[in-house]
Amino acid sequence: MFKSKFNNLKLTGAVSAVALICVSCGENKSHDRFPVYEGDDLELVVNDEGTHFTLWSPEADAAEVRIYDKDLDSAPIQTLEMSKGDNGVWRSTVSDQLYGKFYTFRIKHGGKWLAETPGIYAKAVGANGHRAAIIDMDATDPEGWDADKGPALANITDAVIYEMHHRDFSVDSTSGIEHKGKFLALTEEGTKSMLGDPTGIDHLKELGITHVHILPSYDYNSVDETKPDVPQYNWGYDPYNYNAPEGSYSTNAHDPAARVREMKEMVKALHDNDIGVIMDVVYNHTANNDDSNFSLTAPGYFYRYREDGTYSDASGCGNETASEKPMMRDYIINSTKYWADEYHIDGFRFDLMAIHDIETMNQVAAALKEVNPDIFVYGEGWTAGDSPLPVDQRALKDNVSKMPQVAVFSDDIRDAIKGHYSNAEDRGFATGKPGNEETVKIGIVGATAHPQVDYAKGNNSKAAYANAPTQVINYVSCHDDLTLTDKLAKSMQGSTEAQRQRAARLAQTIVFTSQGTPFMFAGEELFRDKKGVHNSYKSPDSINAIDWTLKRKNADQFNYYTELIKLRKEHPAFRMTTAEDVAKHLVFDETEQDNVISYSLIDNANGDAWKEIKLVFNGNEKPVAVDVPAGDWKVIAIDGKIKAEGLGKMKGGKVTVPATSALILARE
Ligand code: CA
Repeated sequence: MFKSKFNNLKLTGAVSAVALICVSCGENKSHDRFPVYEGDDLELVVNDEGTHFTLWSPEADAAEVRIYDKDLDSAPIQTLEMSKGDNGVWRSTVSDQLYGKFYTFRIKHGGKWLAETPGIYAKAVGANGHRAAIIDMDATDPEGWDADKGPALANITDAVIYEMHHRDFSVDSTSGIEHKGKFLALTEEGTKSMLGDPTGIDHLKELGITHVHILPSYDYNSVDETKPDVPQYNWGYDPYNYNAPEGSYSTNAHDPAARVREMKEMVKALHDNDIGVIMDVVYNHTANNDDSNFSLTAPGYFYRYREDGTYSDASGCGNETASEKPMMRDYIINSTKYWADEYHIDGFRFDLMAIHDIETMNQVAAALKEVNPDIFVYGEGWTAGDSPLPVDQRALKDNVSKMPQVAVFSDDIRDAIKGHYSNAEDRGFATGKPGNEETVKIGIVGATAHPQVDYAKGNNSKAAYANAPTQVINYVSCHDDLTLTDKLAKSMQGSTEAQRQRAARLAQTIVFTSQGTPFMFAGEELFRDKKGVHNSYKSPDSINAIDWTLKRKNADQFNYYTELIKLRKEHPAFRMTTAEDVAKHLVFDETEQDNVISYSLIDNANGDAWKEIKLVFNGNEKPVAVDVPAGDWKVIAIDGKIKAEGLGKMKGGKVTVPATSALILARE
């Protein structure tokens, strides 16, 4: 759903509103009225003794299970009364294994029967997720699944993250991909555009990214899965069933096993090509309020409320969940662990993470590291509106030092490089607007404390927030807001496309050489746009789909990205893991001109084969002269060109850096 972004700093001015809202009473309530259930058998277990239903619903007057033959439009074939046990749990058992059947729960609450719900733990569902399904999960495993494993990753800073929507990536007629807009699109090898350029997985391998970050792929609410032939689009930030894959990405939404199996096949194919899979997870709110599966299961528990009883709304989508309550915290931990374990997911991106509390995020990260030590967690360190959760408990960007295993997106580097996200015409460092230099430097040092960076001059954060560069995700664009291509078009009025492509190269060169983890939006390497639409969450394919003929048209741009990623992967100097190393091995030069940043990575930083790497960024629309230490240098990037192995040699001294470009030099 629509996500407006509030910077934490902007919100601190509005914090007085918190006084109107009571979060602690919600917590107390949870202890008094809602006993905690710690069993791991909630909702459905099938074993040799039969099929067992267990619903946590402490305030229900009665509860029942309805069994169905079909996923939609049929009467129940059986209704089971549930009996109340301890800790708010209701149970019912049948002696048969009900594989192939569907079920819903229904509770009586406040004297009224509520609507049916598949519950909150459904692992398989029918079309549109209204009924949960009973399937044999083991039977959904692709061949070789037991041995399947994502890429090994010593540190998150070794990752190169590529954020994509299933439909954007493959739905266009130019993709040459058979399963357009489906999980299976990412299993097809050898696909080519109509012009003969590799697409799909082959394209990802050519580009060199290490992880795809897939936009919400759990079952979301907005797309009608019963109409696969009607083009429908949504980003998917409207969660419905958190533990089942989205049906519109499967080849048959009515077959509950198909979406499970096909998503696993996608993960397996990516893993087989040494690409990891990161899931975008949205536990911060649900698509519905009183009709959500949370509300229909345990009304009044899973959300935060205002004192007047209405839903508080830090998500900007009508409600916010309450991670500080034990059953909600456990839910988030168990759900992410489930995806990591059952689907071999390699990382998680938390939407509006600051709606969650710090303790929950720390427990999530710790639990996931137990499943797989290479898993990493990052998120948006902000909310989209105010919350009753006290600021010092929020998993905010500025609180990330209290979450050692969690990283946050750097809105600092994002806005400083290209201009503010909310003002289309605003320019940034890469497009010639002075005053952003210090904020870009904050990005370059991965938001760690550095003796040459004056955080007081930062545009957004005023203090070093990261303990280490491993806690920062650097980027200039993502699915939200204008694409880089559109942002440059709107802010560089009167420019040529060649000038805008130079600005994009400079922008991404800053991101990919900075300390921290680089992140890019799918298709940016082809200079894709979204026709100026900044909030395309439900725009048609004509706005969102990647046109693969751009790969030929903008081949130079693609080659630049490929070499830039190669440079980063080959040189650990760009991937330091401690603030101490960054402070010691990254040295800024004094520069007299606006919009120029010059620095060196020195003394074989982080074990690099190169003794020194010199980087000069010129954001001006005219050339500048800078001083480079004397001696012989290998030229890695100059005048909008880059080659990881080098483009030639150059002597130090007074060197001219052409307009809107990066100069990268190296010596052994
Ligand atoms: Ca759905």
